[in-house]
Amino acid sequence: MAKIGINIATGSLQKEEIIVGIDLGTTNSLVAIIHPETKQPVALKEHNSSSLVPSVVHFDAVGNITVGEEAKKYLVTEPHNTIFSVKRLMGKSYNDIKDNASSFSYKVIDDSNQAMVKVQAGTKFYSPAELSSFILKELKQRAEHILKTPVNKAVITVPAYFNDAQRQATRDAGKLAGLDVLRIVNEPTAASLAYGLGLHKEDDKTIAVYDLGGGTFDISLLKISGGIFEVLSTNGDTYLGGDDIDHAIVKHWLQQAGVSEAALQENKKFAQGIRLQAEAAKIFLSENDNFEKLFNGDKLLISRQTFEKIIQPFVDKTLTCCANALKDAGLKKEAIDVVVMVGGSTRVPLIKESVGAFFGRPVNDSVNPDEVVALGAAIQADILAGNNKDVLLLDITPLSLGIETMGGLMDVLIPRNSKIPNKASRQYTTQKDGQSGMKISVYQGERDMVKDNRKLAAFNLTNIPSMPAGLAKVEVSFLINADGILVVKAKELRSGVEQSIEVKAQQDLTDAELEKMLLDSITNAKEDIATRALVEARTEGEQLLETTEKFIQKNTSHITKEELMQTAAAMQALQLSLTMDDKDLIHTKAEALNGISRPYAERIMDAAISIAMKGKAV
Ligand code: ADP
Ligand code: MG
Repeated sequence: MAKIGINIATGSLQKEEIIVGIDLGTTNSLVAIIHPETKQPVALKEHNSSSLVPSVVHFDAVGNITVGEEAKKYLVTEPHNTIFSVKRLMGKSYNDIKDNASSFSYKVIDDSNQAMVKVQAGTKFYSPAELSSFILKELKQRAEHILKTPVNKAVITVPAYFNDAQRQATRDAGKLAGLDVLRIVNEPTAASLAYGLGLHKEDDKTIAVYDLGGGTFDISLLKISGGIFEVLSTNGDTYLGGDDIDHAIVKHWLQQAGVSEAALQENKKFAQGIRLQAEAAKIFLSENDNFEKLFNGDKLLISRQTFEKIIQPFVDKTLTCCANALKDAGLKKEAIDVVVMVGGSTRVPLIKESVGAFFGRPVNDSVNPDEVVALGAAIQADILAGNNKDVLLLDITPLSLGIETMGGLMDVLIPRNSKIPNKASRQYTTQKDGQSGMKISVYQGERDMVKDNRKLAAFNLTNIPSMPAGLAKVEVSFLINADGILVVKAKELRSGVEQSIEVKAQQDLTDAELEKMLLDSITNAKEDIATRALVEARTEGEQLLETTEKFIQKNTSHITKEELMQTAAAMQALQLSLTMDDKDLIHTKAEALNGISRPYAERIMDAAISIAMKGKAV
């Protein structure tokens, strides 16, 4: 049977080409591969340096971009032009992040209310995906330098809770960096793979992945069975991590010295400097009992005991999240078979002990917590390359699937990157009185207007019984089975009339076509939003004209001549605005019409109600 879409995972892979695994982290990013000889995952690093690349991008005055350790230095000297934690902005609008805007030392702007955030560095504006692409480019170059071969294909990890927009932004970042992103993998899934969990078909386990990184805490409960990973629940705190621990140590030192935090805010360079000292102290205390260092002429001191007292509230917070995740998954602690530690901050002994005590079992911490996610991504990459045939993998939809709605808009039922098998349904209604049929057109693609997407099939739901507009309830459901075949069904719920179709794409998309469609959707995103707004405004305007017309016809005798004339003029103005490409004008004219008709509509309704009341015996 023909399948819908293509399997980008297996479609055109040349076996020899290397596929890297990338952990694109909030704080640190890194690349890993399966070592061609040992067949073991390894994180790539230059001789004598760390595998970690700080996720920091610096822009200098003439437009040079540096990434990583080199860029991190500028956090102190040029906070405005040094971008960190860009992962927090991926797929977000300004509305999403405005409450936390103060946590960024650089300028986060929004150029319109619907649009995604942008970051200002120097005189230029960058999208989060662009900023992330600079980090990915750096990783790609590093890998190429170390491996002495071109690197074009990658698997990139994201938190399990990332939504479609955030995953899409991550994919876009990969594309912009010149990487073919074969799959987006959940970080906890990757971490589990690095521990060898899920690599055998008979594995049947419930896993808790505790991930405390630099700025975020995630707890994910996974079920693995038959080679399929299922996320049972996720919980966490997007503003809790190693940075908060550092901050707490700084606070402790300030208290000891009798310096106010406000004073610290005034000297940004000093603030960053002392923060770096706090991080050094924290890392030192994972293996030692006392930290002591001279800084700016003052002695900075902290003992492990004090440190543990300071961080206890953070640890407790994470455990509360763990309890909530268990509750959401409907599981008891005893149901967890394995607890996996992820993220640099889980190196703190108190954290490992507390998490172990909470789950009532020792935690798995044998794999380097900074690297474990990237190592798992490399394993996933190797599976995709076809080198590990024993592992069953879930497929994903490479492009969104949806139907055409009023005005030629694309209404997505199954977003791209959704797992297969999958199902989704949504209700629609009729636009006209007595409408007896409804055309269901199925499209694939990321653009807002169906004309820019690919039409897969169309069919008519007929024999809808006669009823007024808006009363019919047509449920359209999409079902993609494990073979990737899409079945579309439409059913009018009041009458039970139904119709279905099996969609078989004539030919699969090539990688190049797929890429073009995705690139087009990125390039045209802004224009698409504007077009959608205009189409929606027009549809609303047309509907308002229709309902007003009907209302007047029914109630002519209760409306004054003056009101009728004003209404006619307002309707004409609205009608005219519909022919122009200006959604604000349409809104203004629609509001004007509403303003005129509202008083008499209310008057007529009130009268009708009071008549109805009078008729009733109380
Ligand atoms: P992310 O996933 O957010 O990119 P990482 O997993 O790389 O972050 O974790 C980075 C955090 O780990 C930083 O806050 C860093 O200070 C902290 N960290 C690294 N090593 C240690 C250590 N030995 N003890 C405590 N914290 C550590
Ligand atoms: Mg991480």
